Order: sequence, then structure tokens, then C-alpha cells
Amino acid sequence: MLPNLLPVPMDCNPLYITSLNSGSNGNCYYVGNSEEAILVDAGISCKETEKRMLRLGLSMRKVKAIFISHEHGDHIRGLAVLSKKFQIPVYITPRTLNNSKLSLSEDLINTFTSHQIVQIGSLMISCFPKIHDAAEPHSFMVSCGDIKIGIFTDLGIVCEQLRLHFQQCHAAFLEANYDEDLLQNGRYPYYLKQRIRGGSGHLSNKQALELFTNCRPEKLSHLLLSHLSKDNNNPQLVEELFNTHANDTTIVVASRDMETPVFMIDGVTRKPVTLQGDLFSSLV
Ligand SMILES: [Zn+2]
Ligand SMILES: [Zn+2]
Repeated sequence: MLPNLLPVPMDCNPLYITSLNSGSNGNCYYVGNSEEAILVDAGISCKETEKRMLRLGLSMRKVKAIFISHEHGDHIRGLAVLSKKFQIPVYITPRTLNNSKLSLSEDLINTFTSHQIVQIGSLMISCFPKIHDAAEPHSFMVSCGDIKIGIFTDLGIVCEQLRLHFQQCHAAFLEANYDEDLLQNGRYPYYLKQRIRGGSGHLSNKQALELFTNCRPEKLSHLLLSHLSKDNNNPQLVEELFNTHANDTTIVVASRDMETPVFMIDGVTRKPVTLQGDLFSSLV
């Protein structure tokens, strides 16, 4: 029989996304389709990553790459063990790797540069620079067919690159780190307050909301507010603030302590279709 030389149409919709944990205690975000998936950051322990994925019905076998945004501990803490145990390739910039002080297996290390697009199966991951107090910090946008998911945390300011990418998203993880008043009146020492709000630390609720209200694309079905501060923010406050402006975008506040449900992003469904455990496994 002759081999089929025609290109196989890639029907890769929809994408499934979840935050396995989000905050200064650890970050790990999952984006995948029915064939393959990537993790962005590995900031919780390997054991906890496995446990949470299992609860959601997500298989580690589908995870074909881990992309690292920057070297802060809350983004890499579980990386060495997770990548080694499951032999998952790591995509990281040379300076981030150097500053991480991690010893990763050479054959699992893949480097990327700003504005590079990396293909993982039918997923395309574009890597673009962001402003944050790390060596070579990057944000990512994962595309599959027409569907695009942004992973935007640890942002000193809303830069032009972020605006451009946010405007293309069907769903986005977006940092809403602190409430300005809670930070100002909180117990943090002055230098730390300045580190957070000084332009190379984190985004305030107000900055995130400004991006959302001014640059929201019509197709944005889900916004997952991420990397909330424990001391300087409040999940209810964030939820209410964004819901006031949500229209038909589903607002989710990603937890610092547990996984969110899995959300299906298909470019059409705007209501939250949450899939968990056996239900999810039976679909993909
Ligand atoms: Zn962080
Ligand atoms: Zn950071």
C-alpha cells in the first residue's frame, strides 16, 4: 500500500487549560489538546504536580515539554525532579538556566530566544520578553490552530508586547498580584513594597484590569487571574472587581493552594465548561 503523502489536516481544537497552582508559593500552568500538552513553569513539587493532575484526569504522558518563564523559586522548585522522573524536555533561556543554579540532565535542556516560536506536536509556543526582575524573563502564548492561550504572570508593567499578545487570546492567565491599598497599608517593609510595585516586580489589580478593559479581544472567553499575593490581595475582591467588567468573559481566580478545574477553550463556548477526573479522561 502506498504511503499517504497528503498532509493530514490537523484538527487540534479545543485546548484544555488549568492552573495547578498560582502564587509566590508556586506556579504551574497546563495547556494541552487531546494529543499533547505543555507545562509553563514547575514551581510546586513533582509529587504535588502529579497528585493534582491525577485528580483532574490529566496524564503526565501527554506533557511533552516544560517551558520556564524565569528563575525565581516559585517557578522552578519542582523542575529538576519532574523533568528527570518523566524525562520531559525543558525549554529555558541560557541565562535563566545559569541563574537557576539547577542541574538538569543535558539531554533534556532546550534553549529558546526572544520571539522564537517553538513547535511541540500541534502546539506552537511563542516566547516573548517581559519586564520582571529576573535574568531573562519571558511570557508565552500557546496556539493550536486558531485557538490561543496566554500565560502572563510576574510582570513589572504592561508593556507593548503584552498588549499585542493579550489582544489575540481566547483565554489568558493574567497576573493580578496586589491591591494598591492593601500593599501600601500592609506589613511589608518599604523596600519590598517598592520591589513589588516599582515597575519590575508585579502587576496590581488595577493594572491588570486596565489591560483587560482596554485590550480585551472579543473572543476572550476565559480570564484566569493569577499569582495573587497572600498578604496584599484578596480573591473575593479580585473576582468582584473583574466580574463588574466581565460581560460574557468567564472570570476565574486561580488558587494559591490547589488546582482550578480544567477549562475547555474552543473559541465558541463562553460559559465555563469544567471537566474533571473521569469525565475529562473519557473525553480526551
Ligand atoms: Zn512568581
Ligand atoms: Zn518572579
